Amino acid sequence: MIQLYIPLNFLGVLYREIKQSLTDLDKMFVLMEKEREVADKPGAAPLGLPPGQATVRFEHVTFGYEPARVILHDVSFEIPAGKTVAVVGPSGSGKSTLARLLYRFYDVQQGHIRIGGQDVRDVTQASVRQAIGIVPQDTVLFNDTVEFNIAYGRPGATRAQVEEAARSARIHAFIESTPRGYQTMVGERGLKLSGGEKQRVAIARTLLKNPPILIFDEATSALDSANERAIQAELKSAAQNKTTLLIAHRLSTVIDAHEILVMEAGRVIERGTHQQLLARGGRYAQMWALQQQSGEGEPASPARVVPA
Ligand code: ATP
Repeated sequence: MIQLYIPLNFLGVLYREIKQSLTDLDKMFVLMEKEREVADKPGAAPLGLPPGQATVRFEHVTFGYEPARVILHDVSFEIPAGKTVAVVGPSGSGKSTLARLLYRFYDVQQGHIRIGGQDVRDVTQASVRQAIGIVPQDTVLFNDTVEFNIAYGRPGATRAQVEEAARSARIHAFIESTPRGYQTMVGERGLKLSGGEKQRVAIARTLLKNPPILIFDEATSALDSANERAIQAELKSAAQNKTTLLIAHRLSTVIDAHEILVMEAGRVIERGTHQQLLARGGRYAQMWALQQQSGEGEPASPARVVPA
């Protein structure tokens, strides 16, 4: 009996861990094959997305992980094809939940999420995920070579394509400076990369995948301003012509966004461009003033400030 109990108990613990890990967008990449929270409708067709049609729409979306606790209340916004919409707000306000719903880890309880006019519940999950690239806060790297970690974005990619993606993500020179170049082992048992370097590997991977839609979950930890500028430049090049949902922790990243949503307790409390929101003199303007006082590069959510 005990022989049976131990493995079963272990599986239970493992299952709980996997479920819990899904609360971190960071772990999505590794776990996306394991979670089956939603199922395809019988006979669901793949998402048909002609070039330039990757508009994302949230229409009156209401959602809770558990029925008794509503997390998002009647959230509506549109990301026109090729544009960036940024989401800012305090920790726990529901920013990452928007990303999880777009990637269809969960289904909405009310409202619709549409990509190119198609409700994500009517098409196959695999085709939705194929259309979306995620650059998470803290990329989990495989215990393998740098080349493998980048090429994972597009199975069968050539070395030249991997290098081109690495150049665009501004990580090529760093890779070349390591003793074994693209064959250097990274991950837990290999060369340890900094948060910024790992994020650049994730950007290279996403550039290689070349999806029409991008979810960028900005790292919450305070970076020095040189690093921050580098990451912003990479983000800009990665987001070029892609429909981008940017979850931002530093307001300096969102200035050029087509629209900025300010979230609080699962509701959009303000929206507009950077200039419109400053002129409004509301919560965003307050956050901006605070950031200016505390210096460039401070996170937008005070609860997430990492002590120096
Ligand atoms: P942060 O800036 O800290 O990343 P956020 O604005 O992205 O925060 P979310 O991760 O979207 O916030 O979480 C919104 C709320 O949903 C939080 O109250 C959180 O506790 C809750 N939540 C998140 N994931 C789950 C889950 N898997 N099950 C139950 N509740 C969850």
